[in-house]
Amino acid sequence: MINLTLTQTLKGLREKTFSCTELTQAYLDRIKTTDKKLNAYVTVTEEMALEEAQKRDASADFSQPLAGIPMNLKDVVCTKSIRTTACSKMLKDFVPPYDAEVWERLKGAGCVLLGKTNTDEFTMGSSSEHSCFGATKNPWDLTRVAGGSSGGPAASVMADQATFAIGTDTGGSIRQPASLCGCVGLKVTYGRVPRYGVMSYASSFDTIGPFAKTVEDAALVLRTMAGHSQKDSTTPDVPVPDYSRFLKKDLKGVRIGIPREFFEEGVEQETIDVIRHEIDVLKRLGAEVTEVSLPLTKYAIPTYYLLAKSEASTNMARYDGIKYGHTTDDAKELLEIYMKSRAEGFGDEVKRSIMLGTYALSAGYYDAFYLKAAKVRALIKREYEAVFEQCDALVGPVSPFPAFKVGEKADDPLAMYMADILTIPINLAGVCGLSVPAGFSKEGLPIGMQLIAGQFKEENLFHVGHAYEQATEWHSKRPNNF
Ligand code: GLN
Repeated sequence: MINLTLTQTLKGLREKTFSCTELTQAYLDRIKTTDKKLNAYVTVTEEMALEEAQKRDASADFSQPLAGIPMNLKDVVCTKSIRTTACSKMLKDFVPPYDAEVWERLKGAGCVLLGKTNTDEFTMGSSSEHSCFGATKNPWDLTRVAGGSSGGPAASVMADQATFAIGTDTGGSIRQPASLCGCVGLKVTYGRVPRYGVMSYASSFDTIGPFAKTVEDAALVLRTMAGHSQKDSTTPDVPVPDYSRFLKKDLKGVRIGIPREFFEEGVEQETIDVIRHEIDVLKRLGAEVTEVSLPLTKYAIPTYYLLAKSEASTNMARYDGIKYGHTTDDAKELLEIYMKSRAEGFGDEVKRSIMLGTYALSAGYYDAFYLKAAKVRALIKREYEAVFEQCDALVGPVSPFPAFKVGEKADDPLAMYMADILTIPINLAGVCGLSVPAGFSKEGLPIGMQLIAGQFKEENLFHVGHAYEQATEWHSKRPNNF
């Protein structure tokens, strides 16, 4: 049961091949036997999940779009009465009084929550090593990282610990771990899915999306999550199409651009070779493939890290040890409470973000750093708008290299930031991207292919991704080393 895709699982439940309780129990057993090694879950909601599953079976109603599907949420998505920590010491005992809008929608669609999954602290990072619960390991090689920040959700899907999972992507945090773990990961257009109740990192970049075993599954999940919300004014009233209509087998007439800059310096040759080889599959399926250029790609990392860290520094200000978060035991006066609570509650990467962001926003430096970066962001956005006048989708690698060793980049923030060179431009442009499994390195590590489409054009990603998946076997490979 736990090997099935979401679509197959729905069929099994509706045809009564297995019950929701059997299925949920099978996932809970799988988590018990594998998670000591993997460390994907930080909270398992066993009792609630079984209770929910029994209710579902008793009602015998499987008509909702995701009825009876066991899944998990990254631990920055607020869940009423269930601890939500952002994997930070700052919030290690925080129990939200309300549900995030995405979780309300998924629950309304019939999902069963198995638990909350691991992330870099407040989603800042690319390896999940900056979690107060320790790193999530890669299911293909337990000495390597699962990627980040959504390492927990990505690894859990690849290790059959959930049918699908929800993560967040601010600068690559869904696509990169999906690529490193070998599952499908979708970064939606900014504003496609409401952020209400999801802890903020950089509010003008944060997006929420699914990890799944197939493109079809990701499309199904998105349909239930997407669309305008009264509670998030950054979600425009753009209709949510029935994405299943776009899942075709061929790519006749589809215009695909290959950004030259995605195959240059900083990207490992093996990754380049794998993706180039797979572009031929797209050609065989009928796509018209042309090379395009996005010359501002080289400015993406500094632009993003200035803006994201500036926003982070203001978002983190609310954790003052009084209103929210960890409070020090060791302070006598107000300023000391703030300073010690924050010093004790936050980890290194969050502190680095606060310092960098505060500096970039400070009087005298604002124009030189924040404002300049905001202007470059506008230029990058325009560059993407222009390229999407000629192309329906762009194709390139997701990560410049496959999964690296735990600890390899942990002490070198700059080397870690470079892991994001191919994912961050998409966040700056506010467009959408999908990681699909596209092959393996010589060492047997997954390599993901990135599909990119314009604002609110998720259907283009599903069309290209699904057709590619039908023509290849990569998405059906599973790790067998544990
Ligand atoms: N590694 C990037 C950062 O730390 C992206 C993280 C994310 O997408 N949440 O900003």
